[in-house]
This record gives sequence, C-alpha cells and structure tokens, in this order.
Amino acid sequence: MNAVPILAVRGLVKRFRGLLATDDVHFDVAAESITSIIGPNGAGKSTLFNLLTGYFPPDGGEVRFKGRRIDRMPTHRIAGLGVARAFQIARPFRELSVIENVRVGALFGRTGARDVEQVTQRALRLSGLEPIARRRAGELTVGQLRRLEIGRAIATRASLLLADEPCAGLNPTETAELIDVLRVVRADGVAVLLVEHDMPSVMEISDHIVVLEAGRKIAEGTPAQIACDPRVIEAYLGSDMEEQA
Ligand code: ADP
Ligand code: MG
Repeated sequence: MNAVPILAVRGLVKRFRGLLATDDVHFDVAAESITSIIGPNGAGKSTLFNLLTGYFPPDGGEVRFKGRRIDRMPTHRIAGLGVARAFQIARPFRELSVIENVRVGALFGRTGARDVEQVTQRALRLSGLEPIARRRAGELTVGQLRRLEIGRAIATRASLLLADEPCAGLNPTETAELIDVLRVVRADGVAVLLVEHDMPSVMEISDHIVVLEAGRKIAEGTPAQIACDPRVIEAYLGSDMEEQA
C-alpha cells in the first residue's frame, strides 16, 4: 500500500489474564478499500474491533486513524472522528421508521446540523434502504435489520466502517445483498474493515486480507495470495474451512 492509510495498527497487544488475545498485531487499512480480518474462532478478531473502537484500551502498541492516535481515546471520541461499528445484533428503535432510525445516526454528536437530511438520504441510498424507508424498524427481516445497522453507522459520517460478521445467519440472497451494500459503501469513499466467516464473500469483496491465529497475524495479502498461503491453509484445517465444506 503506497497511499497514506486511513488506519494504521502497530504492535497492538491485549492480554486477558494469562491469555494474549492480541499479540503484536500490525497492519494498515487503505482509504476507500475493503480490508478483511479472518481467522479461526478465538483468533482475536472481535477483540481487535473492541480495541479499535476504544471499548477497552490496549496493553501496548498504537492505533492511528488519519494519522491521529486513537488508542486510549474513549469510544465516543473515536466515533466522533469517523470510525463507526455496525453491530451484528442491531437494536433499532423498533417503533421508529427506517428513515427515523438512520436520522438518529446523522444526529449523532451534531444536534442542529444543517446537513442531517442530506446525510440521512445518502446513508439510506448506500445501504439500499430507500424502498423501505417508511417501514417500521420492528417489522424488518434480519437481512434488512443488518442493512439498517450499516445505514445508521454510515449516517454518523464515518469514513471507516467496522463490520463484525455482518452476514452471520443470513440466507444466500441476503448475504449477496449485504456484500453489495459494502461494495457501494466503498465506492462512495468509506473504508471497510470486515470480519466475516463466509469465505466466498470475503474472497470476492476484499482488497486486502489479514489473517489472525491465536492473537497473532500469520499472513496478509490479496485474496489470491491468501488463498494459496500454506500457513493460512494449515491454520484453517480442522476448523472453519472444514465447517464451510
Ligand atoms: P474471535 O472474534 O476471533 O473469535 P475473540 O476476540 O472473541 O476471538 O477472542 C479471542 C480470545 O480472547 C478468546 O480466547 C476469548 O476467549 C478471549 N476473550 C475475548 N474477550 C474477552 C474478555 N472480555 N475477557 C476475557 N477473555 C476474552
Ligand atoms: Mg468474534
């Protein structure tokens, strides 16, 4: 990667008692790219997301977003800078419509901002929610809820979207729709950091893949490079790839 990365992770460490959940992890996320983090269960993918969003502080290393240190910052400040996390279990305001829920994201930290409607409309468009903008959130399908969660995150004016297994539990049609949304989001200038178990989707959509195993980065590269990396194949034997087969 030659351009200045939007996110730079260096020597990141997180310990839970004796366990090194994040062990000297380093990688970059290029602006307007999709970077995926893969690895077997317990590899430290969700812990990494928790560190990047300030959910808990790292024990070592640093994280820079647009050149600025964000490790040690509280979650709301990191979010305010433009890092948004789409949660797998979306908790929308069920009585509000889709557009009203997305507007809540657009109002985040900017009550009274003049561009709220414009930002809301863009987020609806990117997340493919325009046709169901008036529907009550409580009536949405699981696939639509996941897209609402992405729309809400985009509406916070994020330039980096973190999505932890956004396709888990979705059927093939919903999965394809969600992957398409991530593509549209990237095309509109938002970088995506993705954790996803669905390997065909990851291989299809990622610009760059980082592979974790037991807290350590064991490989990184393009999908083509990762698919034939012996260490990756070994790490996956007997775990995810077998499950997928
Ligand atoms: P992944 O998302 O890749 O499946 P996690 O990041 O959830 O992996 O977990 C990595 C390791 O850290 C696991 O061994 C897990 O049990 C441990 N872990 C994660 N979160 C905590 C926590 N809050 N407290 C203690 N141990 C944790
Ligand atoms: Mg996880």
